[in-house]
Amino acid sequence: MSNHDGSYMLNEVIRTMMDEGIEEQIGRDAFIKLIKKIIEIGRHHDCNNGEILEDLEHLKLCYLCLHESDVLIDGVCPTCDKKFS
Ligand SMILES: [Zn+2]
Repeated sequence: MSNHDGSYMLNEVIRTMMDEGIEEQIGRDAFIKLIKKIIEIGRHHDCNNGEILEDLEHLKLCYLCLHESDVLIDGVCPTCDKKFS
């Protein structure tokens, strides 16, 4: 059982930060670090990484390993895709 409501709430938080131009203000590296911290908070509340990062593929973050990847297949990097498909 995972916390879907919490996951989608964090998804909205991330979207709001993007709408407010936080990535442009603090730079991509700092922004990605922030996203990973938010995902970490979600982990403590039984959230689902796939839902937190849903429709945010342009962040280029694999929701399984949380590594950056230019190529994502349904939200996961090619390495994870191979491992789990
Ligand atoms: Zn991955």
